[in-house]
Amino acid sequence: MDRKTGLYIHFPFCVKKCNYCAFLSFNADESVRRDYANALMHEIELAGRRFSGQISTVYFGGGTPSIMDVSLMSLIMKAIRRNFDVLPDAEITIEANPGTLGIKDRVVRAKLIAYRSMGINRLSMGVQSMDNVRLHMLGRIHTAENVVRDVNIARELGFDNINLDLIFSVPGESTEDALEDARKIIDLRPEHISCYSLQLEEGTPFYEMAEQGMISEVPDEEDRETYHRIIELLRGSGYEHYEISNFARLEDGSGRSPYRSQHNSLYWSLDNYIGLGLGASGFMDGVRYRNTDDMEEYFRNLAEDQLPVMEEKINSAFDNISEAVFTGLRRREGITYEEAKAAYLLASEQGSTASGVIAGAEDMSADELFWKVFAESREETEEYAAQGLLVIDEEGLRLTEKGVDISNGIMSLFV
Ligand code: SF4
Repeated sequence: MDRKTGLYIHFPFCVKKCNYCAFLSFNADESVRRDYANALMHEIELAGRRFSGQISTVYFGGGTPSIMDVSLMSLIMKAIRRNFDVLPDAEITIEANPGTLGIKDRVVRAKLIAYRSMGINRLSMGVQSMDNVRLHMLGRIHTAENVVRDVNIARELGFDNINLDLIFSVPGESTEDALEDARKIIDLRPEHISCYSLQLEEGTPFYEMAEQGMISEVPDEEDRETYHRIIELLRGSGYEHYEISNFARLEDGSGRSPYRSQHNSLYWSLDNYIGLGLGASGFMDGVRYRNTDDMEEYFRNLAEDQLPVMEEKINSAFDNISEAVFTGLRRREGITYEEAKAAYLLASEQGSTASGVIAGAEDMSADELFWKVFAESREETEEYAAQGLLVIDEEGLRLTEKGVDISNGIMSLFV
């Protein structure tokens, strides 16, 4: 089966840690960042030797990739093109946090010009809020004014695919506050908006503060109310709600936005992605792997000409179909029986010893196979459908807007 492949490159550096962040990121000086770029380029070379297909998306994520010196980013991009066959129309995204593009306008301009000349055609900015007090509380290093300035400069330079991230349900924030943030973000007319509800993750300063009673989590009911009001606002402003947390701007008269994130869509469609860099994970033809998150080990492995893979797992047929349903249900279109069948048969396609494919699966109709695999969950799934939380039709399954609120419960039927 023809599968798309994306490339994810992780940059684990940030100016400072945000108060809610549990991602793999830390502060490091310029010499560490340079050493990292060199090791990464070697990893790109080693990984490129093992892959002969084409790359349809490249995603520089983090951490904060925009913290890297542009000359290093340019060398990394060249290494990618030298070692991988990147399609001419590939979506190439960089997470470019406001506050790291530069203090002065001319510095921001120079950095963005350099990104464009490298072929980067999509910017993803971690805006999170347009209220300076809330930004400060979140531990962000930028202001709302920085966001407006950076987006305007990017527009002047021709960037026509920009994502802005928004966080809601920040402790102390009301639904109205969150909607005001969303309105200010919409005013900038980004092509894509990602909206996440703030989670208090263990090990973060916010988690500690909540433990000590200094802040309290927004109650579930209020969080859901805010989420649905944001959906309503974004839909009314011309955005397509195409995935639980993601919205893409519609062009006049079309029902499907051309600005859906192609890279993230690979994750939700069980396509392939190669993950490179510290702590990055990848999925290739039914095999999941994860790189070490220990920087010294990362450097050591690459110095010994070895890929820094820490864990590798061959998915069984059930793992594949389960992951396809779990991620597919995040999309507005949900999961089709045909996609689920293709995922199930992926294990046998790879000749995996861990496949455990039901005999005759290939000859079964896609819906028959689906309900054979998930026979034990069928009754409960149909109950959800009867309650209007899920739609089951001849194509497959999808969540309703009401169903999204209990998506974890519904998805857990398929794991
Ligand atoms: S910028 Fe992003 S990755 Fe870095 S600390 Fe903040 S939330 Fe985490």
